[in-house]
Amino acid sequence: MEKTFPLKIGLEIHGYLDTKEKLFCMCKTDFLNSEANSVVCPICTGQPGSKPMLPNKVAMDKVIEIALVLGCKINHDKNLVFQRKHYDWADNPKGYQTTISGAYSLPCAENGKFDGIRITECHLEEDPAQWNPETGGINYNRSGLPLVEIVTEPDFRTAEQVVSWLKNLVHSLSYIHALRKNGGIKCDVNISTYGDRVEIKNLNSLEKISKAIEYEIARQLENHEKGIVQARETLAFDEAKGKTIKMREKESGADYRFIPDPDLPPMKLDEKQINAVKKTLPEMPSEKLDKLIKKYKVDKANADILIKNLELVDFAEELGKSTDVAKSISWITIELLRVLNYNKKSLDDEGVEIKPAHLAELISFVDKGEITVLKAKQIMNEFVPKSFSVKEKMAGSIGKLSEEDTKKFVEQAISENKKVFEEYKSGKKESLNFLIGCVMKLSNRRADFAKVREIFEGR
Ligand code: ADP
Ligand code: MG
Ligand code: ZN
Repeated sequence: MEKTFPLKIGLEIHGYLDTKEKLFCMCKTDFLNSEANSVVCPICTGQPGSKPMLPNKVAMDKVIEIALVLGCKINHDKNLVFQRKHYDWADNPKGYQTTISGAYSLPCAENGKFDGIRITECHLEEDPAQWNPETGGINYNRSGLPLVEIVTEPDFRTAEQVVSWLKNLVHSLSYIHALRKNGGIKCDVNISTYGDRVEIKNLNSLEKISKAIEYEIARQLENHEKGIVQARETLAFDEAKGKTIKMREKESGADYRFIPDPDLPPMKLDEKQINAVKKTLPEMPSEKLDKLIKKYKVDKANADILIKNLELVDFAEELGKSTDVAKSISWITIELLRVLNYNKKSLDDEGVEIKPAHLAELISFVDKGEITVLKAKQIMNEFVPKSFSVKEKMAGSIGKLSEEDTKKFVEQAISENKKVFEEYKSGKKESLNFLIGCVMKLSNRRADFAKVREIFEGR
């Protein structure tokens, strides 16, 4: 439906960068699997006298990659200065957060566009600690984790548009492994209708984002009817009540008392490095979708499954080099995913090494009729974590049986199940299925199903 009132929505998105170490110290980032306050050091807990180490190079590189995906111009020719952003809160042991963002610093990257929405800028900053408002307990494991902050222009017009854009953003960033798997994102949502804009803080799920936007628009319109003029405010979203709540008047840049961090040198992003990263960026999901459908003739439904994960698309493309991938697509979208899911693994997990060439070989044996489909599926069960060449294993152990050998198993099945065979001969159909099942088991699934049936019917 066309909206007939003024509406602007802009986002500030925070995502956890996927690094092994924190931003200014060497503490591990595995905060979820660690006991509270176990991955900490004097730096990330703000002990007096401690100084930050130089920023984590991996985090810097990931911000560059993200900025490139977002079509931003990267500020490589000027000094980037880390700022101290001061505020007093239990989650902030140093009394300030170290960030490249803020009114007084040049952003790492700016002026981009992604999926139709203008990107204002893109930064690097550190996460504060985790503070539990109910117990007052503080967990410093998260303190100092590297975050990317992405700020958009207020180009969104509906909650649905925000949600589908964010899904596409997270999906695209997964292609460059920029964000922590299952790390999620946090959004501050800015909304204005007739009055000044409000900022709803810390929405950490798409569902909350959508609900908060819908509620806030309705609230502002209702107030407007009553003649209430909206002032600049900072709000929180109370999920249980489904309402936004005023936290405070909007703080200004001055409230944060930004100063350049004297413990960190100004930094320059290396242009050569940026160009090198540019060359290694993968195609994005929409390009991959296009390619699968147009070049490889994969149907849309299967292509949608494949593009969920970059490694899976790459796998399909690689398979496509030697195999009619459209025809064989279920070997990936059904069989490969089945065994991966069963083992709770994905293609890019450490230790998982499944080669498209091995699957191509397996498929070709099935196509030539040398391995039964059933047997091939069974072989695939063993492809996780490491696939292998079936050719070597073919020698006798898994290849499809000759007619002569199949007959031997049929005879064995009959002699072990004389009564069932009699029943079959006297017309009981189900008995045949049982007998065929016996032959499949005896032959370790190497017998050809149709052939077995044919032999039984000829008896
Ligand atoms: P702040 O200090 O208020 O957080 P930022 O520049 O960091 O300022 O954030 C600005 C955010 O507010 C951006 O996401 C931007 O899109 C959004 N915004 C700016 N103007 C409006 C507006 N009129 N209505 C809604 N959102 C707006
Ligand atoms: Mg803000
Ligand atoms: Zn530390």
